[in-house]
Amino acid sequence: MLDDYRRDFEAFHTSNAREHYLFHSGQKNCLEIAPIYERYGHLFDRDSIDRLTRELESSERSETENVTINRLLAFAVEQFLESSVKELTEQIGQFEATATVEFMGRDMTFQDSAVAIITEGNRESRKAIYGRRLALIDAANDLRTQRIVKLHETACSLGYSSYAELFQRLRRLDYKEIARQCDALLSRTEPVYVARLDDALRRDLGLSIDEAERSDAMYLLHLTSFDDSFPPREMLRVYSETMAGLGITVGSQRNIVIDSEARPRKNPRAFCMPITIPDDVRLVIRPVGGQSDYQSLLHESGHAQHFGWASAQLPPEFKYTGDYALTETYAFLFNHLVSDSNWLRDFLGLADSAEFVRSVMLARLVTVRRYVAKLSYERRLHSGGELTGHAQLYAELQTASTLFRTEAAEFLFDLDDSFYSASYLRAWAFEVLLREYLKTRFGSRWWASSHAGVFLKEIWETGDRYTADEMAAQIGIGTIDFDPLADEFNSALK
Ligand SMILES: [Zn+2]
Repeated sequence: MLDDYRRDFEAFHTSNAREHYLFHSGQKNCLEIAPIYERYGHLFDRDSIDRLTRELESSERSETENVTINRLLAFAVEQFLESSVKELTEQIGQFEATATVEFMGRDMTFQDSAVAIITEGNRESRKAIYGRRLALIDAANDLRTQRIVKLHETACSLGYSSYAELFQRLRRLDYKEIARQCDALLSRTEPVYVARLDDALRRDLGLSIDEAERSDAMYLLHLTSFDDSFPPREMLRVYSETMAGLGITVGSQRNIVIDSEARPRKNPRAFCMPITIPDDVRLVIRPVGGQSDYQSLLHESGHAQHFGWASAQLPPEFKYTGDYALTETYAFLFNHLVSDSNWLRDFLGLADSAEFVRSVMLARLVTVRRYVAKLSYERRLHSGGELTGHAQLYAELQTASTLFRTEAAEFLFDLDDSFYSASYLRAWAFEVLLREYLKTRFGSRWWASSHAGVFLKEIWETGDRYTADEMAAQIGIGTIDFDPLADEFNSALK
């Protein structure tokens, strides 16, 4: 059974990823995944879930075999959940794809309205666009509510007490413990956060903390004033020279194809799509420049190198499924080069980056605190019971954690499935530990050491075989602890 399952699972992944790549890179006008789900539906129907569950229970197996089956079961269950809401997901997607935001006689797409808020220096205009965007989000909240209710029902139909319990068991993670550590990070970084946020709001936006709202955060985080130091035409050079320092020649990596072609419908944000691991990985960019564009290219290049160096010999369950925190750790490792003043000097010629680094670290802390509030909210949202009151809870937790007044309307919009928030949080914590390890072993300019490159290639070769915690233990870092992440913010922002 398992061999056939593996073969079809890999084929499903490849078809699905190729379709997403073509659509998001602007080479296809519509996303046609329904036929793929139909063709491979047997991989995640009730029957397959039951068979995999029985396989898992019929012990007599080695620990590795159990890990294998658990991976396939986690995939089947997650797709079973997604499949149960696919019509609603499509309806919400369709609504967002066709919605327009009208502002000052100009119609913009729903996606473009987010870009407009991020880059709009005039506060009144920013608030007005944001208000219209929220009204559109609100208009589809009935659909989103139906979708969440259905996901919860489907989780219970599989015998779990709640959606939260389902993911805790399949991922073998304790979200309560992760949330406890994250709450400690909130309180430990609180004094420095309040002080530096107050400085930045007064200096850059002429606002006090009491006045600041979510749309101000979106604008502040973009750090527009530094855009000139990050020109679009240098992006690919910076990527290629950074990797060259590690002994990786991107020009000769046939399996990681950079798609930088301009197409009108191409997604403005960089993304990485592993179509077949490790043979066909796409790194898609549409360079517009600015520090956030650099950060997203570097982030996605971390994913691309991880997938591109994975061993071809790994079974598909160790290439295409696993602990998302692991690949996110590698992505953040490159992403965070923008807060390394040596790297900024060497690759972008920034002689004095102190002010930029502090701004970037504050923006990162806003994001981390936002995700801590997200996890705390998701744990309650997905623990069973009625959805009433959760919109208010979302707004309260976000406002308390970020100090930017947040409206309730985004309570089901600002939400990813399957507790992805916890994966990001664990990755932020692990990345600091991994980076410190690289510095100790290969020097503070670890990114200019071919020995560091050899080490990274060795760990990337194991693909998604290990969870983030297992990888940390294997490297000798120990357990993933959130204190060094809090310490890093406290020392960067003191
Ligand atoms: Zn990522």
